[in-house]
Amino acid sequence: MRRVTILGATGSIGQNTIDLIRRQPDAYKVVALTGGANIARLAEDARALGAEIAVTAYEDRLDDLRTALAGSGVEVAAGAGALIEAARRPADWIMSAILGSAGLAPGLAALEQGTTLALANKESLVCAGALVLETARRHGARLLPVDSEHSAVFQALAGEDLAAVERIVITASGGAFRDWPLDKLAAATVAEASSHPNWDMGQRITIDSASMFNKAMEVIETREFFGVRPDQIEVLVHPESMIHAMVGFNDGAMMAHLGAPDMRHAIGYALHWPERRPLPVARLDLAQVGQMTFRAPDAARYPALRLARAVMDLGGLSGAAFTAAKERSLDGFIAGQIGFLDMAGVVESVLDRFAAQGSHVSAAMTLDNVLQTDHLARVWADEAMTKKAGQRF
Ligand code: NAD
Ligand code: MG
Repeated sequence: MRRVTILGATGSIGQNTIDLIRRQPDAYKVVALTGGANIARLAEDARALGAEIAVTAYEDRLDDLRTALAGSGVEVAAGAGALIEAARRPADWIMSAILGSAGLAPGLAALEQGTTLALANKESLVCAGALVLETARRHGARLLPVDSEHSAVFQALAGEDLAAVERIVITASGGAFRDWPLDKLAAATVAEASSHPNWDMGQRITIDSASMFNKAMEVIETREFFGVRPDQIEVLVHPESMIHAMVGFNDGAMMAHLGAPDMRHAIGYALHWPERRPLPVARLDLAQVGQMTFRAPDAARYPALRLARAVMDLGGLSGAAFTAAKERSLDGFIAGQIGFLDMAGVVESVLDRFAAQGSHVSAAMTLDNVLQTDHLARVWADEAMTKKAGQRF
């Protein structure tokens, strides 16, 4: 039996992971499940899967969790420290699917036990790539990509020589607003940004798809994961979301990875790696798909892509500032404090302020410094949003 832990079990990725594990209950022993405010979901899954421990991120929800799991034999715990403790429990495979930079510390704790970490939490590579990779190396842990594009690249690279890679192309659906007139974008509402044409995901990542902040993070994630130069990474708008990524080699060949848009493919690939096993995902019928289309991303529509390049140029802790500023500006958009296009403006102003103090950028990449940068960038993002809100009213 493989011992598995799911960090962020109640979310979209976590639930898809549970779906796969549930299909083979005898193959897995669930060690820890973690979640946030959805105590009912967490408790129900912990009970059904016979988890050793269930952890909520919120200390004030511990009593609720304890009540929901009374008599089940499942241990309960709460708080940020308890999440890290859960990640430290010995497990053979750990899914990192907490949302945002909150996933960094538990992910590092998981790596420190030298296990296999299936990484859905892209923010940890964006805000602290060098630290994550170095922690994995030092403890002999293995990182497997779960983001669909990165799983696709990883699969296209199987058996290949990294030195022969010329370029990596990650595709983007273009999100909810890919066909909107540019002058309407500023007035786009939260509801409009929260519907994705192809993928069924959490609200935040869906809005990040509409703004392409998600793709911007994935460009940085590609750089960290595969160690390629920024100029080797391209984004291609592909509205049908059938090809998830392509790798171009020095002999002109391109290996493309195709599949139905279903995260259980990438999760299942990481779960069974290095084997391939049957997965309950739809099979592509290309005759029915008929045609696939491609276009270059429009720089005016998707300023986030330019900001990703700026982050890669700056390096150091700028990814942590970027991630935090992006999270805050997304909070601001969801709360109605700023408009859709203001998000990029807020992130850019935080990055500018950060870059202006070179010592911030070049400080050593320790967890403490990453968290301090995260904190500072949130404060600056809030200041920028207050200013923008003032300009609007
Ligand atoms: P989600 O919002 O559906 O779920 C997030 C999970 O993290 C939940 O279990 C929630 O309780 C927990 N969580 C949220 N804030 C937390 C905090 N501060 N501390 C501890 N736990 C917290 O998110 P999701 O869509 O499943 O995405 C999870 C991660 O996977 C993200 O990094 C996202 O970018 C990445 N990802 C998601 C998809 C997708 O299809 N949803 C695809 C690729 C990558
Ligand atoms: Mg993705």
